[in-house]
Amino acid sequence: MKKIAIIGAGAMGSLYGACLSKTAEVYLIDIWEEHIKKINEEGLKVEWIDGTERVFKLKAFKDPKKCGKVDLVVIFVKSYATEEATKSSLSLTGEETLFLTLQNGLGNAERIASIVGKDRVLCGTTTFGATFLGPGKVRFAGSGETTFGPLGNIGDKELLSIKELLEKAGLNPSLTHDPLKNIWRKLIINIGINPITAIARVLNGRIPTDPNLRQLSELLVEEACLVAKAEGYNFDIEEMKRVVLEVAEKTGRNRSSMLQDVLNRRKTEIDSINGEVVSRGKKLKIPVGGNEAITLLIKFIESGGGDIT
Ligand code: NAD
Repeated sequence: MKKIAIIGAGAMGSLYGACLSKTAEVYLIDIWEEHIKKINEEGLKVEWIDGTERVFKLKAFKDPKKCGKVDLVVIFVKSYATEEATKSSLSLTGEETLFLTLQNGLGNAERIASIVGKDRVLCGTTTFGATFLGPGKVRFAGSGETTFGPLGNIGDKELLSIKELLEKAGLNPSLTHDPLKNIWRKLIINIGINPITAIARVLNGRIPTDPNLRQLSELLVEEACLVAKAEGYNFDIEEMKRVVLEVAEKTGRNRSSMLQDVLNRRKTEIDSINGEVVSRGKKLKIPVGGNEAITLLIKFIESGGGDIT
């Protein structure tokens, strides 16, 4: 049986851990002591998509050194903690250990690769959804798909064995040989929705219906597409603007993760979303003024925001 360590057992790490425990030995690793304690004492409780509560008897640890070597490390921290989480997982790494990231944002796979080497890294996207409910408890909020592929050279045998693992876990995997393209596509959607909802404090559905928010979304998306193109990922700008508005409409009643972070006064993933397009755009001499302005505003809000009521 394969051994899998999930670093960052929050909403998504716990959901993937619960699903993977059907087919592998799973260790959940998190820095939050109370959460770890609750999982070890009472099991991980998952409010399943059908409304029932399922309890998974998983081993949870604060210290990765207690797990020995594993076959697969899944990094599921927020993107600003990727580097630290990867460094902390080095004790889990044997000769053949692979790393998988399905986090949002751009640059996570490269950050992991800079620590463990490109030829161990798998990356991609997930359209599953999960919500953290409290220590030891998460909600399986939406079913979806897992798309992943290798960042460097990883043999077909290894890729297919990870795919089979995800399949048996019910995580609907598909393999791609260009996972960065999928990451870019999801990134562009997040770029055109998340920070706007967080600053304007609106549900996703307001973006396509409000002419000002819609224009702002289109500007951010256009800049991101130009940066993607310069990096070799050619998206049709007009089509991507439409896709982003369609996603915002379809998820109209959702609070984006960035809006939730802002409302809960938590750090957001802005640096790896719009911020990453700004830093790459500047290096490539591509205008990214819209994304820069929005990134600065989110960072201002993160640092405490305005004081006039
Ligand atoms: P979360 O905040 O619920 O979970 C992150 C967990 O990581 C927390 O429990 C935190 O204590 C832990 N952590 C932080 N630093 C750590 C470290 N150094 N070592 C170990 N654990 C550490 O976040 P989430 O919603 O599960 O999101 C994780 C990633 O998945 C993000 O990139 C997010 O954008 C992406 N994502 C989330 C969803 C969703 O529905 N929640 C969907 C798709 C993608």
